[in-house]
Amino acid sequence: MPPDPVSSRTIKVAPLRCEFCDITTENDFLQHQLRMTQGQLRVTFLFCALFYLCFALTDLIWLGYELKTCLLVGARVAVAATVLTCLALLKRRPDSIPFTRVAANIVEVAGAAGFLLIAALRPTEFSLHAISMSIVIIVLYIYIPNRLIYAAAIAAGATVVFICLAWRLGDVGGIELPTMAALLALTNLFGYVAARRYQILWREEYSAQMVLKNLSVRDPLTGCYNRRHLHEQLLETEISRAQRYRLSLTVIMCDLDHFKAVNDTYGHHGGDVVLQRFAALLQSMTRDNIDSVVRYGGEEFLLILPETDLAGGQLLAERLRQTLATTPVEHAGQRITVTASFGVASVDFASPARTAHINMIAAADDLLYAAKNSGRNRVCAQQLV
Ligand code: GH3
Ligand code: MG
Ligand code: MG
Repeated sequence: MPPDPVSSRTIKVAPLRCEFCDITTENDFLQHQLRMTQGQLRVTFLFCALFYLCFALTDLIWLGYELKTCLLVGARVAVAATVLTCLALLKRRPDSIPFTRVAANIVEVAGAAGFLLIAALRPTEFSLHAISMSIVIIVLYIYIPNRLIYAAAIAAGATVVFICLAWRLGDVGGIELPTMAALLALTNLFGYVAARRYQILWREEYSAQMVLKNLSVRDPLTGCYNRRHLHEQLLETEISRAQRYRLSLTVIMCDLDHFKAVNDTYGHHGGDVVLQRFAALLQSMTRDNIDSVVRYGGEEFLLILPETDLAGGQLLAERLRQTLATTPVEHAGQRITVTASFGVASVDFASPARTAHINMIAAADDLLYAAKNSGRNRVCAQQLV
C-alpha cells in the first residue's frame, strides 16, 4: 500500500508547543489558517493601538503637562505607532506566514515593553499595574495569534521583569510582592492552558477535515486517487498549468494483463494483493507531490506526469513494465508473476502546431488497447498534436 498522506504520524500534535510534529502538515495548516489569523491580528492590532492612544489621552487629562506625562504619553504613542505600522505592513503582505509571525511578535514585544516602561514611570501604583499586567498576559496568550512558544516566552519574560520592577521601584511590601508574583504566575498558567486548548482544537478540526478530504479523493483498496478526483480537479489543474507555462504533459494508462486469470487462480483476495502491490510500485517509481497515480478502473491505472515529455514518459513506462514483469508478488506462500500493458500520450503545450482541444485520456486509452492487441506486456507511445 502506498503511504497514507493523512496518517497518525502526520496529524500528531506535539503536546507542549501544540504544533503538528510533521513540518509539512504544520505549514499546510498555517497556510489554511492564514486568512483567519490575519483577520484576528488586524482586529487585535487596531484595538491595541486605540487602547494605548486612549490611555495617552487620559494621562494628559489627569496628570497635567509635566516631564513624566510627556514620557508616559511618548511611550504609549510609540507603542500605538508600532502597532499601526505593523497593521499597515500586514495589509501589504497578506500571503506571508513568516511576515505575519514577525508582525505578531513585534506587537507583543512592543506592547509588553511599553507597558513595563509605563509601570516603571508610575512606581506608586504597582498594585493597579498588576491588574493591567494580568490583562496584558491574557492578550499575549489568547488575542494575538502567534506561536504558543513565542507568546509564552514573551508573557513569562514580561512577568519576570514586572515583578523585578515592583520589587526594586514599587512600594509593595511584606506579603504583597510574593502574592502578586504567585497570582501573575497563575495568570500565565491559565493563559497558557487556554491558548493550548485553542491551538489543539484548531489542529484537531484541520486533521478531521484532512481525513475526510483524503477519504473522498482516494480509492480505499490501493490508496491511489479515485476517478472522481481525477475529473473534478487533477486533470484540469495539470492541463491548465501546462497550458499557462507552456510545458509538456504526459499521461500513461496501464492495465494488468489477463488479470481475470489471477483472480480465478489465486482468488479475489490474491487479486487484491496484486492490485495493491502494483499500485505501490506505481507510487514508488513516480515523483512524490508532482506525479499523480489514479485508479481509473478495476485493474486500470492512470499516471499524470507534469513537465514530462514523450521520451520521459516512455522511459518510465518501460521501467515500470520491466520491474513488474520481473518482480513476482508473494501471496500465501505463492509467487504470482503478472505483466501490464501501457499507453503513453504526451502533449507539448509550447508547440505552435498543437490543436486547441485534445482528449489525452482517450488517446492514452487507445494506445493501451493498441499495446494489448499487439501481444500485451508492452508500451505504445505517441506524441499528440
Ligand atoms: P486484459 O489483459 O485484456 O486486460 O484482460 P483482463 O483479464 O485483465 O481484463 P478483464 O477486463 O477481462 O478483467 C478484469 C478483471 O479485474 C475482472 C474483475 O473481476 C477484476 N477486478 C476488478 N476490480 C477488482 C478488484 O478490486 N479486486 C479484484 N481482486 N479483482 C478486480
Ligand atoms: Mg486487464
Ligand atoms: Mg481492464
